Amino acid sequence: MLTFLMIGAHPDDMDLNCGGTAIRLQKLGHRVIFLSMTNGNAGHMTMTPEKLRSTRMQEMKVAAQRFGGIRYETMDINDGYLTANIENRDRLIRYIRKEKPDVIITHRSCDYHPDHRACGQLVMDCSYLVGVPLICPDVPALRYHPVILLSEDEFTSPAPFRPDLAVACDAVIEQKIHAVMAHHSQFMEWLAYDGHWDDVLCARTPEEAEQAVHDRLQRTFAEAVQRFPKAFPEGACFGEVFQVDEYGGKMTEEIRRAMCGPDPEE
Ligand SMILES: [Zn+2]
Repeated sequence: MLTFLMIGAHPDDMDLNCGGTAIRLQKLGHRVIFLSMTNGNAGHMTMTPEKLRSTRMQEMKVAAQRFGGIRYETMDINDGYLTANIENRDRLIRYIRKEKPDVIITHRSCDYHPDHRACGQLVMDCSYLVGVPLICPDVPALRYHPVILLSEDEFTSPAPFRPDLAVACDAVIEQKIHAVMAHHSQFMEWLAYDGHWDDVLCARTPEEAEQAVHDRLQRTFAEAVQRFPKAFPEGACFGEVFQVDEYGGKMTEEIRRAMCGPDPEE
């Protein structure tokens, strides 16, 4: 069985970008770890950073359960302050060496959010150094290089995203939405406020607001198939796409089969 380490800048990034893939892999018996580099303690309009940090920690635990019992961890760096510095690079090198992932999924390093950029940069910076024994010599260096996959974005400079790998998520889409919505303070509160989501903000009941967020997420998760229809099998409506990063190890048929093969049996 394979180990997939999905590294995002914030709690909710991996959930959105590879949550369906994570559910499928977990059901197939693979090991899935979500690592959020920051604790998400900046994205709110009323809560204090301390209160928001503990709220986000709690929401990560709920999400982990809803994703099928994956491990959901954080480096606990303050939201908005992630940089690709040596300290963070060394922490990530040690983490990757200890978990020995076959595959790492992360952001591309061209992105509107500085934390996403730094996260993508940090993984790139680690990609070769995880195998260099004199860097962080207290943890044994890897004798292989994990495959690195980059999650989808819409940025075009210096190059548009390339869909090398497409995972149809139709069979798990409701579970993905339910799991993503565990980040209540993010989707029901912060993103609704920040994005002026009037259907959520003006909802008459909490149930109506939840339904509005559900429907927004459902539309969002259909976009990859609409954008790259040829990458997906015929009939797919929901999915996730990934670009193979040239700094990582060589993509294998085993990984491709695990990610894009038939749906796991219930
Ligand atoms: Zn993010």
